[in-house]
Amino acid sequence: MASASERVCVVIGRTRHKMIQAEIQEAARRGARLLELRLDFLAKAPDFKRLLAGKPCPMVCTVRRPRDGGRWPGTEEERHMLLRQAIALTNGFDWVDLETDVADTIPRFGSTKRIVSYHNLREVPADLEEIHERMCGQDPDVVKLAVRGEQPADNLRLLDLVKKAPKPTVAFCTGDMGMPSRVLCLKYGAPFTYAAFNKERGIAPGLPSFDELKHVYRVDHLDADTEVYGVVGDPVAHSLSPLLHNAVFRSQRLNAVYLPFRVPRGELEPFLKDFDALPVRGYSVTIPHKEAAAAATKVRDPSVSLTQAANTLVRAGAGFTAYNTDYHAAVESLLASLPPTEDGAPSTLHSKAVLLLGAGGAARAVAYALQREGTLLSIASRTYDRAQKLAEEVGCRSVEWHARHNVLAEAVVNCTPVGMHPNVDESPLHPSFLKPGLVVFDVIYTPETTLLIKEAKARGCHVVTGVDMFVRQAAAQFRLFTGQEPPLEFMRTVLRRALSPVSLKGPEEMKKS
Ligand code: NAP
Repeated sequence: MASASERVCVVIGRTRHKMIQAEIQEAARRGARLLELRLDFLAKAPDFKRLLAGKPCPMVCTVRRPRDGGRWPGTEEERHMLLRQAIALTNGFDWVDLETDVADTIPRFGSTKRIVSYHNLREVPADLEEIHERMCGQDPDVVKLAVRGEQPADNLRLLDLVKKAPKPTVAFCTGDMGMPSRVLCLKYGAPFTYAAFNKERGIAPGLPSFDELKHVYRVDHLDADTEVYGVVGDPVAHSLSPLLHNAVFRSQRLNAVYLPFRVPRGELEPFLKDFDALPVRGYSVTIPHKEAAAAATKVRDPSVSLTQAANTLVRAGAGFTAYNTDYHAAVESLLASLPPTEDGAPSTLHSKAVLLLGAGGAARAVAYALQREGTLLSIASRTYDRAQKLAEEVGCRSVEWHARHNVLAEAVVNCTPVGMHPNVDESPLHPSFLKPGLVVFDVIYTPETTLLIKEAKARGCHVVTGVDMFVRQAAAQFRLFTGQEPPLEFMRTVLRRALSPVSLKGPEEMKKS
């Protein structure tokens, strides 16, 4: 039996009784200690006896209307009847969810506890605080507010409400901006948060899975002292950084959590100011904010001053210090792959002829870093103007894309997405370019073994993969965030496991397998 999770209400929504019964037992086996049955998902009238047979833990009865994000097909009268029946059952449901507009018409009965809820699928209403105040007067055991977040700062409004609530309150933003409040409401005193047993069922927009909350975000360990970190980007939902950083926090026994913050292009500065309120101690920065992150900070590492792009912000008093850990990670990854010199000394990149493919964000960090190491650098990019511009900035040579195979190189770095999932049958280089002894570094990490890496290995090249660079840049961030040494090998294992087909396993599960 997995360790119990007291702070997640696991939502089960299936059309068939049989499937609900199976999911109840499986969720309990995986550690769920509070389950919400969404009766509005059922294709047939609910058979309470069947649903509650062998009840392994407390259960919430919910019958959600379409206007609140549910699927209830019947009339409102029929719904009220069902809710009243659920409340009146002996040894039945422990909780009932009543929307704020019906909570006054369905009174408390017996020992069934009341969740008084409010859902807004469109927005965070201007009068949210008044709505909450009213709900606190409706005899709730818990108040629940789920409203669609339209901007990152909406999360803060919901968290503020939880913090000041006179009654236990679960409040969060739905949608892809809502993860911070879904997790952090627990830091500010929410009794539990919600998760899907089966994320694929599409129960609610942005609803995370139970496994994700339990194993990745470790919500059972969150408390008022938990320090907050995160990644800002857009899109950010598929970022592997939360998985990796949270796993490291756990392995180092740090009371910290790392969250995805979806911040639209052009909104980084106001976002940073707004979230000073938490505060967030450090950020990883990804597309499209790397340039804006450099511009938003006065104190910069030389890597940022050179590249004018930052992928890391570390809180320093009222502001942040900016770093570019991609810059250092690229060089470290390359150096680690070079065979030692004939007299056994570590190799350097000085005077090595390097061909860099691409002239985008990754190429920029790599180009500056390689130029600083004294390589003889040539940049080739599909759009020649971009290659030329970057080469001029950095102070190296540019090459037409079609002429890339003519470059005499000792190392080649692919900073294009050619070969990235789903286009795994593509390679930016003809195999004939790949001679034994050539160093081939592909920054792509989805998949780790790209066609380029596969062909390079087959032809006796030294290979460096994007996983190595990704892990090193994240490890450097961890060092900057915490001042502690990162467990590099552990991080590599976590990332490789996440990239394997059976992905999103938490470290706890990983230890077992
Ligand atoms: P980006 O800013 O969009 O730049 C992409 C570059 O590749 C541009 O120069 C683009 O040329 C070129 N390109 C795109 N499609 C191409 C094609 N079909 N043929 C030839 N050239 C093409 O992207 P990025 O942020 O630099 O990311 C590039 C890759 O690096 C991604 O796969 C990303 O996942 C990976 N990456 C890995 C790490 C790591 O830590 N391992 C870190 C950062 C990025 P145009 O100007 O002609 O479009």
